[in-house]
Amino acid sequence: MLADFAVRVEQSKGRRFPEPPHPYRDNFQRDRDRIVHARAFRRLEAKTQVFTRRYSDHFRNRLTHTIEVAQISRTIAAQLGLNSELVEALALVHDIGHPPFGHAGEKALDAAMRRHGLFFDHNLHALRIVEDFELRYAAFRGLNLTFEVREGIIKHSHDYDVNEHPELAEYLLELRPPLESQLIDLTDEIAYGTADLDDGREAHLLSVEQIAEGSQIFASSFSKARELYPDAPQRLQFNEGLKRVFDRLVSDLIDNTRARVAAADVHSVEDVRRYPERLAAFSPDVEDQRRQLKDFLYENLYFSAALEGEKEDAERIVGELFNHWMEKPEDLPRSYREKSAHESLPRVICDYIAGMTDPFIYEQYEKYCGA
Ligand code: MG
Repeated sequence: MLADFAVRVEQSKGRRFPEPPHPYRDNFQRDRDRIVHARAFRRLEAKTQVFTRRYSDHFRNRLTHTIEVAQISRTIAAQLGLNSELVEALALVHDIGHPPFGHAGEKALDAAMRRHGLFFDHNLHALRIVEDFELRYAAFRGLNLTFEVREGIIKHSHDYDVNEHPELAEYLLELRPPLESQLIDLTDEIAYGTADLDDGREAHLLSVEQIAEGSQIFASSFSKARELYPDAPQRLQFNEGLKRVFDRLVSDLIDNTRARVAAADVHSVEDVRRYPERLAAFSPDVEDQRRQLKDFLYENLYFSAALEGEKEDAERIVGELFNHWMEKPEDLPRSYREKSAHESLPRVICDYIAGMTDPFIYEQYEKYCGA
């Protein structure tokens, strides 16, 4: 049962290129399926989320992270009466524009572009992937996704100013996105916040004691788990604690969003769009604890000395390869050389690098920049 403020597929603003309806899949289900069958989606499997494979091959990568975000998002959407098919499509596509080497790769690619007066933004890149780069259909370029999925790609994490991005004007930048889209950024936070504690501990980069000291939400959940299972090994007490953090974040997001929607007296997607702020949110108390956890992860994991080497590698590899192709565009694959006839060379190189997996960019680096 959809709530009155949920997106209804029959009211979708539709596709760029009209297509006949499918006999048994609605348009959001079809979009989800198109995303899953995209080449860029399959490449997520070999892209770093936080850890390169040096640590362990059972740590999250971009693909498994994406699947976790989809799982959490569906659970929450069902509780709130939102459109689960749209939510799932948005979750599955939310990281499709990420370059290799996680955040470090993104920073390095952006820095290389800024040297040419341009920039890199993974949401804008994701839109280019689904609008242009994926070639599967004879009648059009891209995946021809519905407006609501394209809008969600642009608007799930932050707002773009229409004056800075006139090319995005069709995405109603002055309005909030539907709740289905608002949800994604928060479920993304839940997914990686808990997963990075898990992988960080497994990698011995974080200790259970250190996490409990730095994160209040973990400390209270962990002490409950220890009370319940005093004789269990610490690894299982940790898992029980983490499970409770997860549950607390998800339940709070459901309850608080439901309360905010009720208080805002919102009864349609139009009301959600026109409401002055985003309605999907954690309660103030849990929001504080989520921020504390995030700060803890930045300080002790993402910016830790242990991951410094990987970050420096990422910057060196992306930066040097970018410069190599700037100087020798003849070394680019033919399809990219052809693109540079009608697009700036830095943008073409950026598109090429952004699409790469970690192993592929290593290979390219060895080939062109290796000693
Ligand atoms: Mg993500």
